[in-house]
Amino acid sequence: MSVTTHVLDGKAIARQLNDELRAELSRLGVKPGQGPRMATIYDAQNQASGRFSLAQRHYAEGLGLTVEPMALRHDMSRDQVQQAIEQLNRNAAIHGIFVQNPLPQQIDPQWVSTLIDPRKDVEGIHPQNSIRRFFGKARIGSCTALAVMRLIEETKASLEGKEAVVVGHSEIVGRPVGMLLLDKLATTTICHVATQNLRAHVERADILIVAVGQPRLIKGAWIKPGAIVIDVGINVVGNKVVGDVEFETASTRASFISPVPGGVGPVTVMMVMKNLVEAYKLQQSI
Ligand code: NAD
Repeated sequence: MSVTTHVLDGKAIARQLNDELRAELSRLGVKPGQGPRMATIYDAQNQASGRFSLAQRHYAEGLGLTVEPMALRHDMSRDQVQQAIEQLNRNAAIHGIFVQNPLPQQIDPQWVSTLIDPRKDVEGIHPQNSIRRFFGKARIGSCTALAVMRLIEETKASLEGKEAVVVGHSEIVGRPVGMLLLDKLATTTICHVATQNLRAHVERADILIVAVGQPRLIKGAWIKPGAIVIDVGINVVGNKVVGDVEFETASTRASFISPVPGGVGPVTVMMVMKNLVEAYKLQQSI
């Protein structure tokens, strides 16, 4: 059975979010370069992370926000990393802290997320923000999960009572997405590496979110006709970037599908900016 498929345009949604944020900053009277400021922590030896933080800086500057990259050296001790983060926490001119994974091997990213001042946690990964999300009361949400929900919102579908299946149970994507789907009263299943018969779960999904990091893990033939498919995965295969879903076949069955690249990625970048503005407002008691 073939259905009319709409490809969700993450770049267009990111532009819309950019305009909304620009309007909000203007409403707040924030002058370019004098408002929200974020530090991006990344591994000094990881070229991809270095490139990503430059890209992030580019998007931020477009909005008049400031991003200051902070590279972690491989010879830094845990104490030195802790001191550096505590200094950022104390610095009233820094409103957001972003941690770019992977970090140098000796630094546990989960430990780092507990060190960040929760009011400066632009990724929504601090345990306090996770607890607020659990109760449906997060002011700063998980940036990738918010991006996934924004793409689903674009379809105008009601999630109430629908079968939602999330593949991947990480702290930064799968679990927070699961929470947000429950908030919308979707009947939510979270699959992971130990799930038996993944295909059977995928086949009954009205809404399918995949965040694993394995190219073509989800076969197009498994997609329920008319399903909404959001592919979070980013995989480099040869000189191409692909997602976790077999896009060509899946897109003949889904009603809506997000492409890779150009789907979740650009929306996530803007969600970080949105969280930075939210963090700024929190710290200014706005
Ligand atoms: P992770 O490695 O922390 O988690 C991977 C998850 O996949 C785990 O829950 C694991 O149980 C599950 N898994 C592994 N093999 C599986 C299998 N065979 N069947 C079912 N589940 C399986 O990864 P992550 O940080 O959540 O990222 C997942 C993917 O999303 C990566 O490709 C990452 O690059 C991408 N990502 C994209 C964005 C974005 O903005 N587009 C943001 C964050 C992550």
